[in-house]
Amino acid sequence: MNISRLARAIAESPTFALNEEARILRERGEPVINMSIGEPKNKTPITAILNSATKLSGGDIKYTPPDGTPSLKKAIIRYTEENYNKLVAPENVIVSAGAKQSLFNILYSIINPQDEVIILAPHWVSYPEMVKMVYGIPVIVTPEDGTFHPRMEDIERAVSSYTKAIIVNSPNNPSGEVFSPDFIAQIVEYCERKKIFLIMDDIYHKLVFDGSVWEPAYKYTNNDIENTMVIVVNGIAKLYGMTGFRVGWTITNRKLVEVMTNVQGQMTSCTSALLQAAAEGALNGMQSVVENLRLTFQNNKQVVVQELKAFSGIKLNTPKGTFYALPDFRAYLPSSLAKDSVELSKVILKKALVVTVPGKEFGMEGHLRLSYAGSVKEIKEGIERIKWVLDPTSPNDIYIGDRKLVRDWL
Ligand code: PMP
Repeated sequence: MNISRLARAIAESPTFALNEEARILRERGEPVINMSIGEPKNKTPITAILNSATKLSGGDIKYTPPDGTPSLKKAIIRYTEENYNKLVAPENVIVSAGAKQSLFNILYSIINPQDEVIILAPHWVSYPEMVKMVYGIPVIVTPEDGTFHPRMEDIERAVSSYTKAIIVNSPNNPSGEVFSPDFIAQIVEYCERKKIFLIMDDIYHKLVFDGSVWEPAYKYTNNDIENTMVIVVNGIAKLYGMTGFRVGWTITNRKLVEVMTNVQGQMTSCTSALLQAAAEGALNGMQSVVENLRLTFQNNKQVVVQELKAFSGIKLNTPKGTFYALPDFRAYLPSSLAKDSVELSKVILKKALVVTVPGKEFGMEGHLRLSYAGSVKEIKEGIERIKWVLDPTSPNDIYIGDRKLVRDWL
């Protein structure tokens, strides 16, 4: 088949692939525990349902302006004022079909072939693939001190005359790390000085635990919205548990919004009018929805920390936010069971029906990402099953569903 070289080079989204595998197994009646997926389990906020239902029952669902409906943009402007302490105009906002499309549109609009984009490992699976999709070159920077916190000296060493942008995601998927205000201050100052775009993926920004603070990058620049190199991406997927609604947005200077609007206008025309109404409902509704999710994840994080503590071979950097943990399984790698995190994830799925995501996908070989967006019961049982697969000191027998299984490989 004549598939383009570029398209052929783009990897499948591993998280979606694993999620599909879990769904098929569950459909077959298998007692699968899915610790791979990044989505909250809450019901859609009522104000989002009502606003989109009103729109739907009005029967007038047409194209919207490519950059978003004026009323949703108004809600986003208010959100930006309240959460970022930044005044922006409608011309600084563009709505897209999920933060994913926002990020893609930004990259499409700023990257020339061979431009480099710095991505900080551990990183979200999609960043390198998106950069490749616009003929750019992803440059991965990994902290050399074994932590999940980036360091300016490593970043500065990776910057070249081709560096066009740096992507920062804090709170971080997959590690749960929240980057320090000091680091944010330094990287903002650096990017403003070097004229490198600083793309802040703030999709988890309110999901922080135990007094950790997230601070907007805008706090550390004196430049106004038209002159700053800071570009902000946010959305409703994670904070409101509205992953299926596909609404995200970008805040940046007018010129870039204009270009991104042209790109979007030729690509999707606009984000669905119905779903924009839902997003508006969420942003204008009761914000306790977000705080309730945060509290749930904070509690779940505690359970993960507790359960992994009893797992002698595992090392964990305690997550400070999101709903992910990225424990270090290198004590079990390589072994007779698995040579790397990809094989380990497969073994755990096959033997114990727990879905995890291999750290390799995030640029952190030797680790597995565990999502704790599920119930406490699932988290406890999931970790117990993983322990049964790997840890010879754990009991030899386990019940998975109504089957009693005996470990015979350690
Ligand atoms: N950025 C990060 C870091 C994410 O984890 C995700 C979703 N997994 C996104 C962006 C995309 O969000 P959306 O669903 O709004 O496209």
